[in-house]
Amino acid sequence: MSDDKLRLETLAIHGGQSPEPVTGAVMVPVFQTSTYAQPQVGEHTGYEYSRSQNPTREALERAVACLEGGVEGIAFGSGSAATAAVQHLLSAGDRVVCGDDVYGGTWRQFTQVFARQGIDYTFVDFTRVSPVDAIPEGTALVWLESPTNPLLKVADIAALAARAHAVGALVVVDNTFATPIFQRPLALGADLVVHSTTKYINGHSDVVGGIVVAATAELGERLHFLQNSTGAVPGIWDCWLTLRGIKTLAVRMARHQDNALAIVPWLKSRPEVSRVFYPLDPDHPDHDTATRQMSGFGGMISVELATDLDGARAFCAATRVFTLAESLGGVESLIELPAAMTHASVPPDVRQEIGIADGLVRLSVGIEHHDDLIADLAQALDVAFGRAAG
Ligand SMILES: *Cc1c(COP(=O)(O)O)cnc(C)c1O
Repeated sequence: MSDDKLRLETLAIHGGQSPEPVTGAVMVPVFQTSTYAQPQVGEHTGYEYSRSQNPTREALERAVACLEGGVEGIAFGSGSAATAAVQHLLSAGDRVVCGDDVYGGTWRQFTQVFARQGIDYTFVDFTRVSPVDAIPEGTALVWLESPTNPLLKVADIAALAARAHAVGALVVVDNTFATPIFQRPLALGADLVVHSTTKYINGHSDVVGGIVVAATAELGERLHFLQNSTGAVPGIWDCWLTLRGIKTLAVRMARHQDNALAIVPWLKSRPEVSRVFYPLDPDHPDHDTATRQMSGFGGMISVELATDLDGARAFCAATRVFTLAESLGGVESLIELPAAMTHASVPPDVRQEIGIADGLVRLSVGIEHHDDLIADLAQALDVAFGRAAG
């Protein structure tokens, strides 16, 4: 049966997987080994050393590549390492155009690591600037996060990819928030997809990992070379846990979405809430683009409270079911304050310019019962707005 005829729910379980040939083990074993016996000098089984090849890691790489409809997956020790591997495709003097509210760590890596090595980064709001104005001639790479973090802006991937290709630039989409269940950037024209598998792909808040999926064998080969040469490979147990997490990706994403769709209208009805950001909400500024290029969205909601940083701090400290923590995409609900946590590395004037208010709270809605989540948010609003004792 050819994989491209299978639906995503089926691919999440079977994509790129087959029983282990020696024992028939249904789940790929943990090949916890650094090296492999060679039958003769100069002859090997296809496996020489685990930085270069490992069957458990390869099973994970095939699984994600299959879900994204790509040719090759190349796994890394974190999403940040996957992001860095893509920058290593570039040379000093190359120009990159990047979205202006990308993940704070991505912004830090570009401006404080690779900019020092001579790569030139420009940050633009792809949802407000036309593709032609955003991507000038001479651009080598376009880095898109869509939906963005934390404002959940949605860029038109197909339109940007068409312009990027017209000027000879590579297009990379960080698809961490949407996952291939709801958005498949390669089908929209992207050349590479990047994930922090730490988030929805693994989904259980117990692994840090990353992956790049390439649309062509040529890019895949180059990234495998970089994976082996720079060595930021994931541990084998982490690969195995992530592969196990992927089995439930489709059902988890559906439940995250159902919960978010219950919580968003409730939040919008509250006087303490000045704005709610969720791409499937008809009031979201990029709702049309979102519904055109995405088949759904998960559990990420950003909420601007009608209060200052201290009020938002009090709200985040008062939730009981939502855990105050960075990260997202796990089965448990998390809450965080971008201005003081995930986006603290972005300078205050830049934060203000791109719209990350001090009262902006980011929710990663888990797969608990939505009534319990709403009740928790309600009591935290009471605490933050001085109506109840903390
Ligand atoms: C978390 C995150 C990253 C970085 O991934 P790590 O696994 O934490 O290194 C990159 N992009 C997005 C959108 C993220 O949420």
